[in-house]
Amino acid sequence: MDLRYTATEEAFRLKVRQWLEKNVPCESLKSFDTEEGFDQHRAWEKTLASDNWGMVTWPKEYGGRGCNLIQWLIFEEEYYRAGAPLRVNQNGIFLLGPTLMEYGTADQKSRFIGAMASGEEIWAQGWSEPGAGSDMAAIRSKAIRDGGDYIINGQKIWSTRAVFADWVFCIFRTDPESTRHHGLSFIFVPLDAEGVTVRPIDQLNGLPGFAEIFFDDVRVPVFNRLGEEGEGWAIAMSTAGFERGLMLRSPARFQEAAKKLVALYQAKRNDILDLSLEDAVVLCYLDAEAYALSTYATASRLMAGGNIGAESSCNKIFWSELDIKIHETAMRLLGARGELLPDSEDFSEELGVWLDGFFFAQSGPIYAGTNEVQRNIIAERMLGMPRK
Ligand SMILES: Cc1cc2nc3c(=O)[nH]c(=O)nc-3n(C[C@H](O)[C@H](O)[C@H](O)COP(=O)(O)OP(=O)(O)OC[C@H]3O[C@@H](n4cnc5c(N)ncnc54)[C@H](O)[C@@H]3O)c2cc1C
Repeated sequence: MDLRYTATEEAFRLKVRQWLEKNVPCESLKSFDTEEGFDQHRAWEKTLASDNWGMVTWPKEYGGRGCNLIQWLIFEEEYYRAGAPLRVNQNGIFLLGPTLMEYGTADQKSRFIGAMASGEEIWAQGWSEPGAGSDMAAIRSKAIRDGGDYIINGQKIWSTRAVFADWVFCIFRTDPESTRHHGLSFIFVPLDAEGVTVRPIDQLNGLPGFAEIFFDDVRVPVFNRLGEEGEGWAIAMSTAGFERGLMLRSPARFQEAAKKLVALYQAKRNDILDLSLEDAVVLCYLDAEAYALSTYATASRLMAGGNIGAESSCNKIFWSELDIKIHETAMRLLGARGELLPDSEDFSEELGVWLDGFFFAQSGPIYAGTNEVQRNIIAERMLGMPRK
């Protein structure tokens, strides 16, 4: 195994770094869970897309650069190193984009991918329903065929970014007589369509990070269905593979957070009485590096024609638990000041970043499939343990 980068990869890294140095906004953008922040992040997506940096692994004709997975990992390392804004369109570019490339018709690709890459259309994911979270096959919302349209009725919940997004990709029951994972279809709905109501839900930080979506006789054309009618479950599982596997959380995100944790430790080291904190910081750093190495190994395997399969569940558990460890350790280092809220007198931007990250890390073991369910998958499919 050769862990060094090739000269071409080093040249690519330099190109990314130079572009980011020139283009990353000097001031942090507002949260994308506010209207103003959402618009700022949408503008940033446009800037990225203006030079084909929106999703580097996509083919050039769809606004990408045709990069391989190692180049994508390098891009991500530079992206986080530069402190570039988080991706408001992550549901579109990391989840729906690759699914559309695989299952979309030529007309669907040309209608949706360009607008997604440029940030003109921001996507939300509408899978969960009250009563259908981990058990997604319990979906009850219906899309019933009426000539060239579907008429949709039902409710989705926990739809991230849906408050300000333009579109939502959903799974609906298109065969009303069907049960479980049969008779479901993958359908796109514009969030400004007649009959759609989006009701914001506040996250722990008080901002409306997700929403409930209600559908009352919403009419969308059959063109908005991805894949064949009734194929929705299989397509959704392929999207879920992208979500838990490589794309949603690249190692650079955690490596950068671990580096910031080390810097925080160095700034506070003279005041620290609890020496176990030192071990915790080192462990976070090492775990972030281990996750990066393991991701490089997976990327190399995929590039050689392998696939990721059930081991994406291991990745998901690892990064979500690592995120919690990093932020819990930071909160311990910050002490009582770490709990200051933005309206406190002594509040600073650094405190806000750690506290926000700490709040958000709590949700990591829940979204993208809960860690309990991922453990079931590992037990059954990787360890061959009997199904209860
Ligand atoms: C920050 C965040 C963002 C989200 N974004 C989206 C989004 O954009 N779109 C979307 O559709 N959804 C989204 N979700 C919803 C998420 O997918 C669900 O919360 C998740 O699938 C769990 O479903 P549930 O909340 O209904 O909990 P339940 O499924 O009711 O689970 C409750 C508890 O029971 C456990 N459990 C359930 N079944 C089993 C089992 N078979 N074995 C062992 N334990 C089990 C779970 O692990 C959990 O601890 C988001 C959630 C969060 C927290």
